[in-house]
Amino acid sequence: MEKTHRAPILMTLLAMLLLAGCHARVTGLSMGTTYAIEADCPDGIPKERVEHVLARVNRLMSTYEPESEISRFNRLPVGVSFAVSPETVDVVAAARRVAEQTGGAFDPTVAPLVALWGFGADAAERPPTEVERRAAAETVDFRRVEHGHAPPSLRKLAPVMLDLSAIAKGYAVDRLAKVLDESGCVAYLVELGGEIRAKGSARGGGAWRIGVDAPAARGFASTIALRRGGLATSGDYRQYRELDGERLSHVIDPRTGRPIRHDVASVTVVAYQAMFADAYATALLVMGEDEGRRFAEDNGLAALFILRRGEGFEIVPSAAMRDYLR
Ligand code: ADP
Ligand code: MG
Repeated sequence: MEKTHRAPILMTLLAMLLLAGCHARVTGLSMGTTYAIEADCPDGIPKERVEHVLARVNRLMSTYEPESEISRFNRLPVGVSFAVSPETVDVVAAARRVAEQTGGAFDPTVAPLVALWGFGADAAERPPTEVERRAAAETVDFRRVEHGHAPPSLRKLAPVMLDLSAIAKGYAVDRLAKVLDESGCVAYLVELGGEIRAKGSARGGGAWRIGVDAPAARGFASTIALRRGGLATSGDYRQYRELDGERLSHVIDPRTGRPIRHDVASVTVVAYQAMFADAYATALLVMGEDEGRRFAEDNGLAALFILRRGEGFEIVPSAAMRDYLR
């Protein structure tokens, strides 16, 4: 009698144990890049909700979508109050916070300079003249955009255009994490174009281990152990174009109006929200080695700098990053 009872319980326990370690995987294309989700969820990865979130963030914030809220805002004249989604206001507010903190090294109104240097949806075909560069740089100023939360709205205080490319992917990753949390997933790694958010244990147990690419080479320069939160990398070696044999980065220093030029090959940031990791990674890349490292230390940011040194490179973590490198 006892035996027949016990067997099914043991079987159930065994099945539960097996299920508990079961990571499903979903991949796809969105926001001009690829995404991959590995997750341990009671009913599998909710792929429809995942795709809905990605499509929505793209539809609201992409500058490649002429009817996105951002594209429509960019075409508006000064002074008009423009009703937008709460999501767009949240991202603009976060971008503004990082812009203020970084003294404009990160600036979501960098759009005209991005286009002028040949990047993004409205890329110019030839390099800008001095006059063009100066004229575009003058309109880049995050203080020219006013945002309201109730009701969610944006307004231009002077001619200005928004580009949320350096923060929107991180935001989308945070939204995906929320969907997985709501679906009861106990562990996940979400990755969209290099921006990441993690929770729980990796397959086989322990922290998720994230490889940081070595510049101009195969393989990883470093590995970061992430248990919970966001991670983003901004680099100058993936997206660039050539001008007279020189590589032009798609990351622009709004303070000079020119593509960045220095020895920082990439910056990886760990922050609870992938949105802030994304924005700070871009900001630190703009700041460069000295200013960026100082900013990371002064603000307790977990940042990993990969610096070019002759033919090789040097890996420099901030104090807060050292905890993740074990
Ligand atoms: P990626 O898109 O490759 O992940 P980033 O997160 O660094 O890289 O975003 C780079 C994009 O952000 C650029 O293509 C441009 O549209 C925009 N951008 C460039 N310079 C800045 C800047 N100083 N501040 C904010 N956004 C920027
Ligand atoms: Mg970024």
